[in-house]
Amino acid sequence: PTEVLYYCRPGFEPDLAAELAEKAGMLGWEGQTMFDTNSGFVRFQTAGDEPANGLHRALPLASLVFARQSLVALPPLSLSRDDRLSPIIEQVVASGWNFESLWQETPDTNDGKALAGLAKALNRPLESLLKKRKALRRKAGGRRLHILWRAGDQVQLGMSFPGNRSETPGGIRRLRFPHAAPSRSTLKLEEAWHEFVPRDDWDERLAQGMQAADLGAAPGGWTWQLVQRGMHVYAIDNGPMDKGLMATGLVEHLKADGFVWEPPYRLDWLVCDIVDKPSRVVTMVERWLVRRWCHEAIFNLKLPMKQRWREVATCLERLDDALKQAGVTAEIACRHLYHDREEVTVHVRLRE
Ligand code: SAM
Repeated sequence: PTEVLYYCRPGFEPDLAAELAEKAGMLGWEGQTMFDTNSGFVRFQTAGDEPANGLHRALPLASLVFARQSLVALPPLSLSRDDRLSPIIEQVVASGWNFESLWQETPDTNDGKALAGLAKALNRPLESLLKKRKALRRKAGGRRLHILWRAGDQVQLGMSFPGNRSETPGGIRRLRFPHAAPSRSTLKLEEAWHEFVPRDDWDERLAQGMQAADLGAAPGGWTWQLVQRGMHVYAIDNGPMDKGLMATGLVEHLKADGFVWEPPYRLDWLVCDIVDKPSRVVTMVERWLVRRWCHEAIFNLKLPMKQRWREVATCLERLDDALKQAGVTAEIACRHLYHDREEVTVHVRLRE
């Protein structure tokens, strides 16, 4: 295969393509990105028929901001309506691929959703044919075949590998809205934890009795998540906080400016969902981290501008430089989460 196929939120294809072109280029990979705006996916085709597996490995999904899923891919297939299955089976067999599971997916668009029924109807016949041809089998290293339906007569096949993929269909982590939470924003922080904190670490890193600050907290969706984990929260916002949340006794609401407020002592967590210029938010977070006012931070960068990748890259480079200059060792990750719209979520964890 000479292609890597990435899923993204529809409308963010130019941003993902810009990110891929820049990162692949820095790693010495030549090739080109291909996408239709609002399609929900971007392809990267390597130059000179270079196998794409190396690029796929060199750019782990977790290191990409705008990609929801990352697959080594075969060339797109056109299907005829009277026999959709044969071309798929033949392409799989010709590629020599084998895998343990099969996922059929559609882009995260209205057109894509309309294809879900068709994909579902084909699932059984596809699985049984692939089993017969020994492509779908046990003990295939956890590899998964993805069939992306681009239209009723167009698919693209891709392969994913354990440890470098999203484990949710379409790369989308759907979460149930907790009805007791004061705002839908609550899902952004919950998804961020799923993304950035391994499940096994939750009891240690999201622990009862920890201290947190939530800047731009009102009405309290993020604070609610922190309180659910049993943390004490300084909720900084001029706006009103949810009454039920205040009644827990775990929240101290301070009507202060989140950009200047300083914690009375070292905290475990800083979270921030203030809508402001990304550079302003980064400058504030930098101060927190350089002074070690918190151990971990999760904050959003709002991206109303056109060149979203450029803005994100500039912010992340600045943060990285500032921490290095101050001698602060930290892990920085940034992802465009499913519950994020015109924004991305950054996670920083100090390393000592
Ligand atoms: N995360 C919250 C939740 O889940 O309910 C929603 C936060 S809302 C998107 C942004 C909040 O930031 C608003 O309540 C606004 O009052 C607050 N805000 C804006 N500028 C601020 C500042 N300089 N300091 C503190 N809060 C600010």
